[in-house]
Amino acid sequence: MTNITEEQIIDALRTVQEPELGGDLVSRNMIKNVQVAQGRVDFTIELTTPACPLKDQIGSEAEAAVRTVPGVTEVTVNFTANVRPHGGIPEQAAIPGVANVIAVAAGKGGVGKSTVAANLAVALAQEGARVGLLDADVFGPSAPIILGINGQPQAYENKQGQPMMIPLEAYGIKIMSVGFLINEAQPVIWRGPMASQLLRQFLYNVDWDPLDYLIVDMPPGTGDIALTLAQALPLTGALMVTTPQAVATADVVKAMQMFLRVEVPLIGMVENMAYFIAPDTGTRYDIFGTGGALALAEQAGIPLLGQIPIGMTVREGGDRGRPAVTLDAHDAYAEVFREIARQFAARISVMAYARDGNGA
Ligand code: ADP
Repeated sequence: MTNITEEQIIDALRTVQEPELGGDLVSRNMIKNVQVAQGRVDFTIELTTPACPLKDQIGSEAEAAVRTVPGVTEVTVNFTANVRPHGGIPEQAAIPGVANVIAVAAGKGGVGKSTVAANLAVALAQEGARVGLLDADVFGPSAPIILGINGQPQAYENKQGQPMMIPLEAYGIKIMSVGFLINEAQPVIWRGPMASQLLRQFLYNVDWDPLDYLIVDMPPGTGDIALTLAQALPLTGALMVTTPQAVATADVVKAMQMFLRVEVPLIGMVENMAYFIAPDTGTRYDIFGTGGALALAEQAGIPLLGQIPIGMTVREGGDRGRPAVTLDAHDAYAEVFREIARQFAARISVMAYARDGNGA
């Protein structure tokens, strides 16, 4: 019987390319824990995100490569992920243990920003990522309703004598919302400095650690509070949510410009309420027109990460505290949100490598 060596396996894996980031799996340092026992080979591929959309492709190409080594009879491919911390944040601004802070933003209210933020957060967690959702929409905190969770976060004093809060949890994500601290029936009038102060506490005095992604549901628009937050948050980037009509009124363009002005890169765009599929006939209706978000994304040089149809499931689930991704419905909404989550995670990995290079 041929004696297979670890080197042979590694050499075979050198022929497999990382399809998105380029380079081969070995020189990218993605191959871990190779074990060979007679003809059986077992190894682990370390991805840059557990939500990698090309995971299956990478896995099957790696398996095929290893099977070309003479004597190999059985191949087991395991996956792990190591989400790199965003490298562009000054140390004093970084949130300890949080790899990426991402703003989900829109040009105006009512486009489904909070719905997208919540479904994105839960979908990433379903893929195995460690996720937090900070509902910073001081004007209309909706995470408690969308995720069906409310309560007073527990507080304690940490070893350094700082007051800390324990985030609430639902669907595998950690959640903090302005809505947990205010009376729902009372209108809240926020002034910029007050909102900033509270949101600072939500960033630095909450037990987020450890997180791969902290999704921040931003206040809509480009007003005082949104701008202050865009500037103050240690952001990896911003994800823009728009509807086809908002594209027409250019609200989202203003919001994009706001982030770029404060040097926050744009991760991509999501078009919500993009079209309607009649459940009885299956006919697609482009109620608000078509192509606007794609054209705008192309113009801005950012990807359109997905288009979410208008759907009863999304609306009803949101009102009942059951985000679409948690429902076992036979419609496409959950899968659309999941694909957006994978594209989102992949884009963050690509942006990290483009910026920081291969070394962590
Ligand atoms: P925003 O955060 O932009 O103000 P929300 O996420 O609160 O918007 O959504 C506004 C309303 O629209 C909610 O009732 C929500 O359930 C509904 N909604 C959002 N996206 C969709 C969709 N794709 N299909 C149907 N209803 C939606």
